Amino acid sequence: MKFENSLGFAKKLDKADPLKSFRSQFEIPAIHGKKVIYFTGNSLGLQPKSIRKFVQEELNDWAKLGVEGHVHSRRPWLYYHKFTKKALAKLVGAKPIEVVAMNQLTVNLHLMMVSFYRPTKERFKIITEAGAFSSDQYAFESQIKWHNLDPGKTLIELKPRNGEHTLRTEDILKAIRDHASQLALVIFGGVQYYTGQLFNIKKITEAGHQAGAYVGFDLAHAAGNVPLNLHRDGVDFAVWCSYKYLNSGPGGIAGAFVHEKHATSFQLPRFSGWWGHHEKERFQMKKGFVPMPGVDGWQLSNFPVLAGAAHLASLEIFQEAGIKNLKKKSVQLTGYLEFLLKQIDPENNIFTILTPSNPNERGCQLSIYMKQNGKRIFSAITKAGVLADWREPNVIRVAPVPLYNTFEEVYRFSEILKKAIP
Ligand SMILES: *Cc1c(COP(=O)(O)O)cnc(C)c1O
Repeated sequence: MKFENSLGFAKKLDKADPLKSFRSQFEIPAIHGKKVIYFTGNSLGLQPKSIRKFVQEELNDWAKLGVEGHVHSRRPWLYYHKFTKKALAKLVGAKPIEVVAMNQLTVNLHLMMVSFYRPTKERFKIITEAGAFSSDQYAFESQIKWHNLDPGKTLIELKPRNGEHTLRTEDILKAIRDHASQLALVIFGGVQYYTGQLFNIKKITEAGHQAGAYVGFDLAHAAGNVPLNLHRDGVDFAVWCSYKYLNSGPGGIAGAFVHEKHATSFQLPRFSGWWGHHEKERFQMKKGFVPMPGVDGWQLSNFPVLAGAAHLASLEIFQEAGIKNLKKKSVQLTGYLEFLLKQIDPENNIFTILTPSNPNERGCQLSIYMKQNGKRIFSAITKAGVLADWREPNVIRVAPVPLYNTFEEVYRFSEILKKAIP
């Protein structure tokens, strides 16, 4: 599509947008009565209006039924984790047996590493991207130390080539081959939180398996942002959170994927709890853990229903919109943002975009590296009603989200940014 730098053109795109009605299903924050331009759905997604109803229903059932709600409420709490399966499976390209909503992201990362990071004397290395999200770095470091290994000799962190901002797939694959004989685990972000780069999940998984390692992904910035095919790509495990693109509320319940090929790998060591025990005899309270087949067997505790109600409400919207349709709009929306940014600074004197320009190598986020006056420009756009995200040392992350952001907002953002540059 050929873009134009005008408000009229942006409005035309909004009018033609088949997903435009979804915006009205969300609460848009306002400052001094004026709606903000909310470009931080990559950090905390906006609140779907339907969440109030879902949560209220659970509160009502709890009030009316007490403990009986486990079985007799409209969505019996005992089976709550099952209600999210269909939508989650669709979102990440999986079978229902491969996905579950549980815990928090970092907790799930640890649970998965307990099972899939089993270092031996020969195979002990982990390959990941340099500059992974802090929590992931701490998880990797502590897992390695827990096995009495030295993180400095165990964790291989891949950096982009000199002068480049993102990793080349060929370099990732080469590193995997180079370390093949000592490699235990390959673990990458889906979409890198800082650069916005979408990694090639299929190729990385293939290479990892060829090297004889397990392969996992942290999809915090990918789930609900880009279509995924975890089952087809053969990924061993994945984890994600639900409060970013999945709009399920601050600290919302996270998700996990374990490939069907491990569904009955009961010999894989794991940390267990009663909710992972086979449901047929979960309440017999017997000694001796018998896991549920599939990822359900990794559950620990009974399901947090209030958080789950919010999650269900939000997932319903994704079911309706469809992740492929969202991606289609996202390519245009973020493409338009990129086009307008280039018009502001065609020579890259003021800023440079770290995120790949190929729509297949990114989601909706663009990471703008400010070469000068970064902090000053950021506070000026904030004052003008833009909620974006500042990352040290010099990056403004903006994420126009196809479910609720508009082309007009992208246009208005570009005007505000232009004015904010001294
Ligand atoms: C947001 C995010 C987290 C946050 O972890 P929580 O356990 O949800 O607090 C971790 N890793 C990545 C890659 C993230 O983007």
